[in-house]
Amino acid sequence: ATETALTAKVDGSAVAGLALAAAGARHMFGVVGIPVTSLASRAAAAGVRFIAFRNEQSAGYAAAAYGFLTGTPGLLLTVSGPGCVHGLAGLSHATANAWPLLMVSGSCAQPDVGRGDFQELDQIAATKPFAKLAVKASTIADIPRLVFQALAATVAGRPGGCYLDIPSDVLHQTLTQSEADALIAAAAAAPSPSPPKHKPLDEAIVKAAELLHRAERPLVVFGKGAAYARAEEAIQKLVDTTGIPFLPTPMGKGVVPDAHPLSATAARSLAIGQCDVALVVGARLNWLLHFGEPPKWSKDVKFILVDVDEDEIELRKPHLGLVGDAKRVVELINREIKDQPFCLARSHPWVAAITKKAKDNVLKMEAQLAKDVVPFNFMTPLRIIRDAILAEGSPAPVVVSEGANTMDVGRAVLVQNEPRTRLDAGTWGTMGVGLGYCIAAAVAEPKRLVVAVEGDSGFGFSAMEVETLVRYQLPVVVIVFNNNGVYGGDRRSPEELTGPHKDDPAPTSFVPAAGYHKMMEAFGGKGYLAETPDDLKSALSESFRARKPAVINNEPPRAAAAAAGDMIKRRFFRQDHGD
Ligand code: ADP
Repeated sequence: ATETALTAKVDGSAVAGLALAAAGARHMFGVVGIPVTSLASRAAAAGVRFIAFRNEQSAGYAAAAYGFLTGTPGLLLTVSGPGCVHGLAGLSHATANAWPLLMVSGSCAQPDVGRGDFQELDQIAATKPFAKLAVKASTIADIPRLVFQALAATVAGRPGGCYLDIPSDVLHQTLTQSEADALIAAAAAAPSPSPPKHKPLDEAIVKAAELLHRAERPLVVFGKGAAYARAEEAIQKLVDTTGIPFLPTPMGKGVVPDAHPLSATAARSLAIGQCDVALVVGARLNWLLHFGEPPKWSKDVKFILVDVDEDEIELRKPHLGLVGDAKRVVELINREIKDQPFCLARSHPWVAAITKKAKDNVLKMEAQLAKDVVPFNFMTPLRIIRDAILAEGSPAPVVVSEGANTMDVGRAVLVQNEPRTRLDAGTWGTMGVGLGYCIAAAVAEPKRLVVAVEGDSGFGFSAMEVETLVRYQLPVVVIVFNNNGVYGGDRRSPEELTGPHKDDPAPTSFVPAAGYHKMMEAFGGKGYLAETPDDLKSALSESFRARKPAVINNEPPRAAAAAAGDMIKRRFFRQDHGD
């Protein structure tokens, strides 16, 4: 019988599934159709769970977030042509955020290229601008090698998206099982390309420790690269042994608990405006960090940059650059510091100034949060959600957040005490990521509840994926801040409200009082309408306990919502980007 099994024929779809499983893949996200339907089932049969989405864009955002959460490549499967184009959203988003993702697409049969075949597209050319590597299997025998090569490329150096093209004729070619096994074994055994040689770090580590030691106003900044590198223990140790205040970027939040007394989050402007030495770990000095330039930063600040990507260091030209893995480099700095221990006392003027400012700002915000405002503003429901999440304890829920005001105010109010528990619009400010992120987080972190805090606009981009939540029965609670549109409905100025189309809905308005919770009910999930604090509290407690898909529609009556939205935005947008 074994012999028959070995001489039995397997096709390209089966070989791809087996190769992905052999390479360690555990999950794949995507949308099936010609020519990849069998690939999805073959992969699942080989042990790679396939999560079937309603749209490739959401599946791509899921694969991207999966890469960040697990540190292993997220897999995205799409059909040819338009499917591949939809998949570009996830591929490009992964690369922009430096998260590992492998997109696998079927493509039209090679003999028909250039003749207007079904869903024909030059997919290598289409994906190249967004991928670290874009390769095509021209025969079935190429598949195992390219699967291993492309997966390895996603995580090498700076993580990012890669693309593997498998034409439909290749998916239908066959080999014997034993030939396939041998090819897969050879691909698994092939040495992975040796990592680029960097300068030894010894001297730079000594310098970094010295700089921090001599600094009068040091600051540790860390980003989602540090979270990805699982540098949390090393960074917490650094903060604790040195007493240096720290500032996370939005998705760096939780690497050191937000509740830590040295958190400078609520004193952000002061911290970055006055620090004289900033150790920046796994975060780019891009728009999110004001390019590291005045007026937000002092012009004399000395940056010590830690990044796995040498080009990033070249680009920023810091005072001192350390190319390497965040966890390893910070561990080396910790070891160096142990030989010349120092700890800024809490009474140190710099530490005292930051903790005082942070405390004042937190008190101001708490005063706002303490009020129960009905109809809802942003603060009241966010406080209720924050408290419900904190009450969950550990393992903390993964918080997914998107939207304009909802995300910005939410970043200040919601608390992250564990690493990799915040997913948001990221480096590109991408909207529509929410439901894909939720599905990825539920699949990647089965012990954690997933709570999405979404603007109604953000939710709408991928709202159909609530059906996917129900189909897989994922423990995801989506809270929609329904303020009737983008930013909060119609905000046209009198000059904009003229002309032949002035009676059209504003570009920012949606149908008012939309019943988003009913979308969830349509598929058999649980929907809640919450108009008061008590509604929201009971919806949260019931849905958190049930750990089943739920949508809570936070709906303020129309006019009040628009007015409150305006006010809150003016007030808190500034606070969030300054103090
Ligand atoms: P944030 O948005 O949180 O500021 P960015 O995405 O801008 O973070 O920056 C993350 C940085 O982390 C990227 O420059 C990336 O090259 C880097 N990075 C990724 N993985 C590692 C790692 N293992 N060690 C150090 N740096 C890393």
